[in-house]
Amino acid sequence: MMMLDRAIRSHSADRRLDARRRSASENDALVMTQIQQANRPVSAYDIADRVSQISSFMVPNQVYRTLARLISQGRVVRIESLSGYFPAQPQGDVCLICTHCHAVSFRPAPEVVATLRRLAKAGGYAVSAVVIEAHGQCATCARTV
Ligand SMILES: [Zn+2]
Repeated sequence: MMMLDRAIRSHSADRRLDARRRSASENDALVMTQIQQANRPVSAYDIADRVSQISSFMVPNQVYRTLARLISQGRVVRIESLSGYFPAQPQGDVCLICTHCHAVSFRPAPEVVATLRRLAKAGGYAVSAVVIEAHGQCATCARTV
């Protein structure tokens, strides 16, 4: 029994050691793959679990650092109302979220963003980010649910 405990501890230590040895670009690829395969917004903890199942252990702090890098590169967006992460979409000013199947789609709406910025400026606000998210049912769910 002690040998098994020692073997399990040793395996865990190896997995942690592997995680420290992974390069930033390897972490980027692992996290990006999990976000793309999920096909819905995923939390940092879900990403950590998914990566740890297919590769060596990844702690949430590593996931958060990797996500910050991917967001700054314009590859990932944070869905604020779900605290989840999703692949960035070109021309996505408005995020539509299905509350039934969790599908996410983005639509261009530069006029909406411009209106918000104009209203904010008129009110004396210096806007640093505009996030527009709407919840409802996607076309498929609206027909079938
Ligand atoms: Zn749906």
